[in-house]
Amino acid sequence: MKKSCYYEILGVEKDATEDELKKNYRKLAMQYHPDKNPGNGEAEERFKEAAEAYEVLSNRNKRERYDRYGREGLGGAGFRGFEDIFSNFGDIFDDIFGFNGKRFRSKTAPRPGADLRYDLRLSFTDAAFGFSTKIDIEKSDLCHHCQGTGTAHGSKPQTCGYCHGKGQITQSNGFFSISSTCPKCQGCGEIITEPCNICMGTGREKIIKAIDIKIPAGVETGNRLRLRGEGERGYFGGPSGDLFIFIHVEPHDFFERHGNDIYCRISISFAQAALGATIQVATLNGTQKVKILKGTQSGTVFRLKGKGIPHLKGYGRGDQLVEIIIKVPTKLNKKQEELLKEFDELSHK
Ligand SMILES: [Zn+2]
Ligand SMILES: [Zn+2]
Repeated sequence: MKKSCYYEILGVEKDATEDELKKNYRKLAMQYHPDKNPGNGEAEERFKEAAEAYEVLSNRNKRERYDRYGREGLGGAGFRGFEDIFSNFGDIFDDIFGFNGKRFRSKTAPRPGADLRYDLRLSFTDAAFGFSTKIDIEKSDLCHHCQGTGTAHGSKPQTCGYCHGKGQITQSNGFFSISSTCPKCQGCGEIITEPCNICMGTGREKIIKAIDIKIPAGVETGNRLRLRGEGERGYFGGPSGDLFIFIHVEPHDFFERHGNDIYCRISISFAQAALGATIQVATLNGTQKVKILKGTQSGTVFRLKGKGIPHLKGYGRGDQLVEIIIKVPTKLNKKQEELLKEFDELSHK
């Protein structure tokens, strides 16, 4: 749907200030930039529409006429094409991308930065309850010295003499012509004659960034966290990549994890099993008393409700399962042996 009102197109109120107009126009220009939306007819339409609206509203005279008489009052405003837009608003693109808008002009398309991977090992209990930490990420970012321009302080890149700033060279043999990327400037249309001595003209450097991360309770091996925009910086105004944190949970000496339930084994004596007893069982939150009924068999499993791992998504926790193992004594003294024999005889009567 084509919006007809210039204020609506830019998403501002009728009394918008120049700064508001500029801010909103920049946002739209970024979003619908042809280099970011190749072959997208609608984006192209929006991009042109926004440029037209901004062209009128940013000019006090035209804005007054538009406010009073509408489009009729302007007598055919508008742009012929992208080149026209860029040559009018080059400075807007300068601001956005931090370097010459001309260089950006479809010669060097924006590219997203690379995604990064970080492998994080954490203990069984940290995974169960969640924890916060700081990690150092080494990544490629804009050179802090030249702000990504690649040029030495105070110098400017020169227009490439080989392609005359076009970024492309055309060879013609009479019947047809072939265009290719300029080998001298790699398509930028500019040559850096005095490179920044920190990044050697690349405009980028490796940085180490400390990032605070919060691991939610209940994660397990194989989970990954995505931190949007924390990957490598994009190229030529492209978006930054993402940082993926891969979770590796270390095993526990006593507990085994089965989904959100935890499993453990407790040994009790034959007499405890036969007579019944109260035993102490370790849980993730300290110990808990568990009552063993008279005549409990080896392999019986008790369920401690809500003593497992918190659910990663949602509320509540899994359970703790306790398997009872009955130990058979390997050494008996004389008295014990006699009593057991007597016990056995009584059992057969
Ligand atoms: Zn060139
Ligand atoms: Zn630099």
